[in-house]
Amino acid sequence: QGASGGAAAAAAPGWTEEVEEKEVKKEEASLLHKLLHSGLINSKNDIEVLRKDPNSPLHSVKSFEALNLKPELLKGVYDMGFNAPSKIQETALPTLLADPPVNMIAQSQSGTGKTAAFVLTMLSRVDISQNYPQCLCLAPTYELAIQIGNVVKKMSKHMVGLSIRFATRGERVERGQPLEDHLIIGTPGTVMDWCTRHRALNLENLKVFVLDEADVMISMQGHQDQSVRIQKKLGPGCQMLLFSATYDTQVMNFAAKIVPNDPVIIRLRREEESLENIRQFYIECHSVEDKYRAMCNIYGSISIGQSMIFCHKRKTAAWLAEKMVADGNAVALLTGDLTIEQRAAIIQRFRDGKEKVLITTNVSARGIDVEMVTVVVNFDLPVTMEWNADCETYLHRIGRTGRFGKNGIAINMVDGARSMAILKTIEKHFGRKIVRLDTDDLDEIE
Ligand code: ADP
Repeated sequence: QGASGGAAAAAAPGWTEEVEEKEVKKEEASLLHKLLHSGLINSKNDIEVLRKDPNSPLHSVKSFEALNLKPELLKGVYDMGFNAPSKIQETALPTLLADPPVNMIAQSQSGTGKTAAFVLTMLSRVDISQNYPQCLCLAPTYELAIQIGNVVKKMSKHMVGLSIRFATRGERVERGQPLEDHLIIGTPGTVMDWCTRHRALNLENLKVFVLDEADVMISMQGHQDQSVRIQKKLGPGCQMLLFSATYDTQVMNFAAKIVPNDPVIIRLRREEESLENIRQFYIECHSVEDKYRAMCNIYGSISIGQSMIFCHKRKTAAWLAEKMVADGNAVALLTGDLTIEQRAAIIQRFRDGKEKVLITTNVSARGIDVEMVTVVVNFDLPVTMEWNADCETYLHRIGRTGRFGKNGIAINMVDGARSMAILKTIEKHFGRKIVRLDTDDLDEIE
């Protein structure tokens, strides 16, 4: 799946030949993140408690033992390789598992341990000797439901007799035949169908209702209304939980409908990306071909670990990849025409060091953390639909959190007055100098 093969190198693409790459859909970005499961993301930020439970003080735990879990569940948790609760779990779990149950809204970025926390909650509350649906988890898509199901299966490995049912498109139920599975994981449309049209799912006796990925949910047509309709069917004793990777007014308005009764609200801010450890350069060129030559010059003269090259359009990315492969480089190409699984595979190969260069478009500006990337090349500067400087995307492309503590280099290829103006805007926006680089004299960069 590299960049080799295909038609002979086409003429260098211009600026306006093809529509730019679209942003990735939220549900796709989330799935991609899960497929890459890079393990736990540690944040140095502190948990913020935005709303407390007036009846009980919030405390945190430092170990899974402190939670008094069923032994078979604790065993499952340890079998997954979890030694201690993650940051969000430390604060969330005691509340999630409290009796009487407490409702909760929790926000933290992907990879911080939310799924593991609510799966643990469902599994700890389920009574396997009772054959009726006790926990319901709503996810935005079939694929995301499957990912949650996989976590449930792993964590419940030692819970003999637990029955899980996916309520997703294509799954069938007998009309009027009540389900006997303990745990239902599904998408809003199918769950609603099973409740009303098929009369196979009764939500009145649910113990735990989880809505995962609230921010993705509201970005998808119809999911928000259906989720609210499902929520209205819950009985009075049901614990209601909502999780989201982002936190804004829209999400919180939705959350207030899904978890209306006195929720505890906690939040773990993501660590801000910064340009702190990045040295930024630009190179003046006259054409696309010229940009390519200048870039090759750099690759030829400085030692680069792994690098990412960003292009504005798929066509430019493909053209560049083909040229680099022809010049004998091991190059990976990642663009928006690939399926999520294909993208995950390419990123994984790159992470494993199979290729040293990843050429891509904005499709992968977010969410890829490759520790070994030391150089980011903006073959095209990031621009908005209106062709203004896109500073946010610039930061996403080259910004690194303090996480890896590594120093990086960003190289911007500038061709013409328009891209120079964009560069100047970016420079001004961040208030950090972008140094001119002379390709005949690369001492500056070493
Ligand atoms: P989120 O739902 O916030 O995206 P997940 O629950 O999927 O986060 O966790 C992200 C990754 O970290 C997963 O690979 C998961 O197995 C792992 N993980 C979760 N909790 C822990 C923990 N306490 N210790 C170690 N790894 C964990």
